[in-house]
Amino acid sequence: MARYTGPLCRICRGKGEKLFLKGDRCYTEKCATDRRKYPPGQHGQGYRKLSDYGTQLREKQKVRRTYGLLEREFRRYFYEAERRKGITGEVLLQLLESRLDNIVYRMGFASNRRKARQFVSHGHFLVNGKIVNLPSYEVKGGDFVEVKESSRDIPEITDSLSKAEHRGIPRWVEVDSADMRGKVLHIPSREEIQLPVQEQLIVELYSK
Ligand code: SF4
Repeated sequence: MARYTGPLCRICRGKGEKLFLKGDRCYTEKCATDRRKYPPGQHGQGYRKLSDYGTQLREKQKVRRTYGLLEREFRRYFYEAERRKGITGEVLLQLLESRLDNIVYRMGFASNRRKARQFVSHGHFLVNGKIVNLPSYEVKGGDFVEVKESSRDIPEITDSLSKAEHRGIPRWVEVDSADMRGKVLHIPSREEIQLPVQEQLIVELYSK
């Protein structure tokens, strides 16, 4: 299945949650979910009762869309989470948070994960001094992520960084805006991952 290229706000409205897919617009009164608190489409304002399966599927899609992954990529993360020690749902979210594109977004170098993915693929970022152009690269606690010297004046990156405080930088990363570099202090615990999702429903969905 191809990557979704349709309207992003439609995804949030369909799931009934703000997934912060657009960046700065998500923090303004222009947010479509804030303005129209019902699903999109002709029957959006009608009553909809979801089955157990429907609820599980919705939670899975919410997370998959948030991180911008294809179904097969997402499933791979689930199997990896199952293989590792710990509570599968939590490990799944931790693995997703450890992706390099997500870290670039969390540190404020990109206004949304889509942009972060593009920046990483174009080789604008270094991890521990080496260029990494793989958005799925797994960043570890203690790793340093920085903007490549020759990419430091890209307006989209500098602009995003100047608004990063407003969007909020999580406490598990440390960012030096002047140096355009950051450090992952530790991989976040479930409480530190602010994602409105019931991850155990995803585990139930894939365990059928
Ligand atoms: Fe979602 Fe952002 Fe659009 Fe609001 S503005 S609906 S949070 S993508």
